[in-house]
Amino acid sequence: MFTAMNQDGECINLLFFHKRESLRELKEQQTFFCCHCYQPVLLKIGKYKLPHFAHVKNNDCLYTSKHESFQHLQAKKDFYEWLKRQLLEPQVETFISVIQQKADLLVKLNRQLFAIEYQCSKIPMQQIIKRTKGYLEEHIIPVWILGGLPYQKVVGEHRFQLTDFQMAFIRYDYKKGFYLFSYSPQNRQFHILTQLMPVSLTTVIANITQQPLYSITFPLLAHQLISTSMNNGFYEKWFQLRKEWIHTKLKYGKGFKDPFLREVYLHDQHPLYLPAIIGLPLKQMMICREHAIEWQFYYWIDNLRNLKNGQALTFKQIHENFRKRMEQRYLHLRHFPLIYQDVKDEMLHQYTQLLIRLGYLKEVKKRKYIMNKSIPIPKNMEEVIRMEKKLKLEFFAAKKTYE
Ligand SMILES: [Zn+2]
Repeated sequence: MFTAMNQDGECINLLFFHKRESLRELKEQQTFFCCHCYQPVLLKIGKYKLPHFAHVKNNDCLYTSKHESFQHLQAKKDFYEWLKRQLLEPQVETFISVIQQKADLLVKLNRQLFAIEYQCSKIPMQQIIKRTKGYLEEHIIPVWILGGLPYQKVVGEHRFQLTDFQMAFIRYDYKKGFYLFSYSPQNRQFHILTQLMPVSLTTVIANITQQPLYSITFPLLAHQLISTSMNNGFYEKWFQLRKEWIHTKLKYGKGFKDPFLREVYLHDQHPLYLPAIIGLPLKQMMICREHAIEWQFYYWIDNLRNLKNGQALTFKQIHENFRKRMEQRYLHLRHFPLIYQDVKDEMLHQYTQLLIRLGYLKEVKKRKYIMNKSIPIPKNMEEVIRMEKKLKLEFFAAKKTYE
């Protein structure tokens, strides 16, 4: 930590000292205590880490982490200087007694208080939720920043594997979709994954970019972090992986034990001969734990398959059918502690809009549709290939009209 109390009860902030010499003087002349538990702390002026205070013994101080990493100290200092440069007045390591929480940094912007929490070590998702709630109750907006890289491993071109801890920092923007960023003090950059598309429970396809700290201002809004335009190469990758997903499912899905395969067979369908509209990529699909092929199959079976041309369908019915599938545990939502929007409804809405653009549905009133053109079901492999190729072209054309 950068703050402590001296023998006279004065608060000492190490970030105010710019010379090591003056720190050494300070160390010789004064003694220091933790501002929270009042136990003695040492001023450490080492070679590798930034100067900081540390508790003398294995202490049981509840409010400070035992071994603050180089990364954590450096990031706190970087953010402190970065906020100062924006003419804001950040406070370091402020303890908020009502909620018994210490914020890395506290800063006011347009009369709103924000708490910056930089996390590089794994903490349980429950703790993120609890602390977020605590801040919000005090009318403080928490800004969680993930430390290190935003992924665990690169598993292929544009493909990243994430840990549960990293997943917990995923955010959603209405225009830009799901994104995830982290800050790395080693190069003073934000690493940003955008256009997150899930291909399994832990793997996503995404675009990765970097932005220097000083190219962005607080409070880190999505449009600043995500400056690049949408990349179509991605969708090609998606369609390729869509095929692989079906084959993998058939190979390892255990037939009737797999709820999805069972539903496909019970409805007299075959996983290889599904209509091409099943498994289309959408910006919102990360919210569903199941693959887009699964929930779009249920969408088709529950809402469209028996709908004749001219027959009506409402958004309420679509919504209700999805809810039933969740109740029956065919579908599950992912929970992201930093996302407050109803992404699932938006996903269903956007899929419906896509079917309208592709000409299958027609909106006759707000959120009321009629079947406009029947959805073809391929009967053999040649038809599968032909229909998928045609739909892919139609999909790219339809996408152009709304992105
Ligand atoms: Zn303490």
